[in-house]
Amino acid sequence: MPDTYQNYIGGQWVDSASGQTFANINPANTDEVIGHFPASGAADVKAAIGAAQEAQAGWRDMPAPKRGEVLGRAARIIERDLDRIAEGLTREEGKTYGEAKIETARAVQIFDYFAGEGRRLSGETTPSEYGRTMLYTIREPLGTVGLITPWNFPIAIPSWKLAPALVCGNTVVLKPASTAPLTALNIVRALEEAGLPPGVLNFVTGPGPETGDELTGNPAVKGISFTGSDTVGCDIYGRVTGRGGRAQCEMGGKNPVIVLEDADIDKAVNLCVMGAMWSTGQKCTATSRAIVQESVARRFTEKAVAATAAIRVGDGMKEETQVGPFVDEAQLDTVLRYLEIGKEEGAELLTGGNRLTDPPYDKGYYVEPAVFGNVRPDMRIAQEEIFGPVLAIIPVPDFEKAMRVANDVRFGLSASICTSDLTRAFEFVDRIEAGLVHVNTPTVGAEVQVPFGGMKDSSTGTREQGRVAVDFYTQIKTIYLEY
Ligand code: NAD
Repeated sequence: MPDTYQNYIGGQWVDSASGQTFANINPANTDEVIGHFPASGAADVKAAIGAAQEAQAGWRDMPAPKRGEVLGRAARIIERDLDRIAEGLTREEGKTYGEAKIETARAVQIFDYFAGEGRRLSGETTPSEYGRTMLYTIREPLGTVGLITPWNFPIAIPSWKLAPALVCGNTVVLKPASTAPLTALNIVRALEEAGLPPGVLNFVTGPGPETGDELTGNPAVKGISFTGSDTVGCDIYGRVTGRGGRAQCEMGGKNPVIVLEDADIDKAVNLCVMGAMWSTGQKCTATSRAIVQESVARRFTEKAVAATAAIRVGDGMKEETQVGPFVDEAQLDTVLRYLEIGKEEGAELLTGGNRLTDPPYDKGYYVEPAVFGNVRPDMRIAQEEIFGPVLAIIPVPDFEKAMRVANDVRFGLSASICTSDLTRAFEFVDRIEAGLVHVNTPTVGAEVQVPFGGMKDSSTGTREQGRVAVDFYTQIKTIYLEY
């Protein structure tokens, strides 16, 4: 019998005001209901915002190092429960258990990192042009903030928003994606057990528009940090900044890897295929375009096709599985549609692309990872985010053309180059329009201690992660003190 879960408002676990729930389904086996979650609406979000406001003064007054200690205790609890949390993640989102464990361990690192930030939340002291005057700055919290998260990193993304928001002294309303709410709920439980005071973190599940309108429109919410699609993100950005609030939106990508003829081709193949296919290609930083110099394109393509065809697709809980199912039917349909678009546009489907429907795949959303060859840069499969295990190989004559193709998309999240030429590598670093730049490393992956975010249509607002994350969650006060 699946469990029924509740919202967390003002330190209490409560049903939605309407009493309605929705089912959370395992995408590897759609017969399995993981749990029922509250289908919340505006009334629930309003209550959550009210609770967050009530808790604001007390949390803000707690010294930042003490707030950090709560995060540190939460890190230990997540670490203790890592296997259980990761299993829930795989069962609701579909990625492999190995990937889920790595992501959960990342959440531990994030909470540890920002626990330490509680002792480093500093301003600056500068000389004043007046005598006997101390001139300095301090950071204060924004107040109540709303965090809206996607399903594809259901523990890392809520953690990298929650940890800086909390350590900076904000109170929070967290709204996770409806396809992966259990993992976010497990973080809330960890913070509750770690001693977070009631009302500091409030958790509301439910459909985006119904919950989102209140969260993004309520003037008591001073900032919204959003990660998800660019359509929703741009709309939220307009709504929040239009009423004078602060918004930070991390959105899509169309991430390239340039492969030059002097690259280590085996390494390039490995990082492109891994970057494109792991997590079923459902990463904002996933590699979706391999822009390959013509002189090595044939060799690269043969190896990439062989490596892709060898990938073992299956239930993420099975040890041998390398690529799990799509998160839901909508995502499966989107990717199948793009596979058709690619073929209609004249790209060559070199391997994969079939939906898997025979047992043991008949109860899940499975597709074979796919590679398209001879892709032109203007094709839709080379321009639009697919968010699935699909690699488009685009042959180019030289580095100059590769740079033009790499930059000729509206996104700018992550990009990589494979080369042994140091000058080319630095030229790439200078000219690539992306917030995350890699040389001989995959487009995917992010370390907690450095900023994360994109350029162009991939991001708006200040960066997440690293020390700069606190810029979003604090406002600066400048003090002139004459003595
Ligand atoms: P989505 O935009 O559909 O949903 C994201 C969140 O927004 C969910 O919680 C959803 O319920 C909520 N939402 C939907 N409509 C809303 C509204 N009107 N008001 C308020 N909230 C609303 O995105 P998704 O399908 O969950 O995630 C996939 C997308 O996320 C991809 O485009 C991917 O590239 C992007 N992504 C970006 C990053 C990054 O850091 N740049 C990281 C991960 C995912």
